[in-house]
Parts: sequence; C-alpha cells; structure tokens
Amino acid sequence: MQYRSPAFVEDCLAISSINLIVIRLRTGHNRLNAHMNRKFKLAPSPTCACGQEDQTAEHILQRCPLLDEERKEVWPSPTPLQTKLYGSRQELEKTTTFITSAGLIV
Ligand SMILES: [Zn+2]
Repeated sequence: MQYRSPAFVEDCLAISSINLIVIRLRTGHNRLNAHMNRKFKLAPSPTCACGQEDQTAEHILQRCPLLDEERKEVWPSPTPLQTKLYGSRQELEKTTTFITSAGLIV
C-alpha cells in the first residue's frame, strides 16, 4: 500500500466537500426550498425567506438580498453564475465558503 501524507488526505477531503456542495448547486438536487417543495413537498413553499423569488441556487448565489453581506465578502465585484459553479478550483472554493458562511445547508 502506498503511503499517503496527511496533507494529501486532507486535500482529498477538502476537494470532496467542495464537489458535493457544487454538484448539488449545479444539478438543482439540493435542499433549497424550490427543490424540496416541488420534488418532495418537504418545504412549505418554494419561495426563499426573502420572499422575492424561488430559493434556487441562482437566487442565493446571485440575488438574494438576505445574503448580500456574505456575497460581497466572498465576491467583492459581480461574478457570473457560470464562474461560481463551473470556474477554477479557487472559484469553486469561494462558492463553498459563501454557502458555509451563509449558514445554508445544500
Ligand atoms: Zn432570497
């Protein structure tokens, strides 16, 4: 068996948690209201807590007014959804940081 350094293992774990969040956001198979309500009737409404739109990945990443502060912290200038979901590993890390700091479970 090949020896793997702890740093390597840690890196793999970090990558897999980033992937999990990003894949859920990309596919729409996530625990946001829009999916949980339409697909499983597990959320009372598809609407976001802000009341403006359905709570989808695009809404929370791009527009939700409740998350403006967290969004500006991670992305000081406007960033396309494409970059947040399909950008470099560094970009995907920002997306994960945003979701985590917003306290969202996706
Ligand atoms: Zn919202």
